[in-house]
Amino acid sequence: DGVREMLASRIHDVPDYPKPGVMFKDITPLLADPEAFSALTDVLADICAAYGATKVVGLEARGFILAAPAAVRAGVGFVPVRKAGKLPGATLSQAYDLEYGSAEIEVHAEDLTGSDRVLVIDDVLATGGTAEASLRLIRRAGAEIAGVAMLLELGFLGGRKRLESALDGAPMESL
Ligand code: 5GP
Repeated sequence: DGVREMLASRIHDVPDYPKPGVMFKDITPLLADPEAFSALTDVLADICAAYGATKVVGLEARGFILAAPAAVRAGVGFVPVRKAGKLPGATLSQAYDLEYGSAEIEVHAEDLTGSDRVLVIDDVLATGGTAEASLRLIRRAGAEIAGVAMLLELGFLGGRKRLESALDGAPMESL
């Protein structure tokens, strides 16, 4: 619909970033446009309500920018999933494979409880590795997965397929 087209028009393609052959999707023009950012926040807050989520998890770093206002607008709490070593309290961590090497993400264990239903938000679903690890982390913290919402999905990288088992039937939406 019109909102999705408006959002899409504010995401810019940057060739050869961060390395040759990669077409980077730059969301900063969308963030700089108050109408577009607000419309996106409304859509994400609506998904939060439709999924019956009680918490929104944002994935570092661009996921924080999208998830925090959506959580506020939906009236639920925001929980950051961070790269390893950034959270001061007791954490759970989850390692995952990258194209070269591996990465690790963490969450504060006490920020999620057994009665939480979590909506995970990030800007881009690429290979799905980051989102998959976050779903496993959230489950290990004892919470339920309400679903995943992404601004955009790079379909040719197969992230949706990679997420399937970690979603375990929960919905995954990209705008
Ligand atoms: P994945 O783990 O799915 O391969 O990569 C997803 C992560 O990388 C997301 O946190 C996302 O922010 C970042 N990412 C990968 N490609 C792009 C891109 O083209 N544009 C933006 N904005 N982020 C990207």
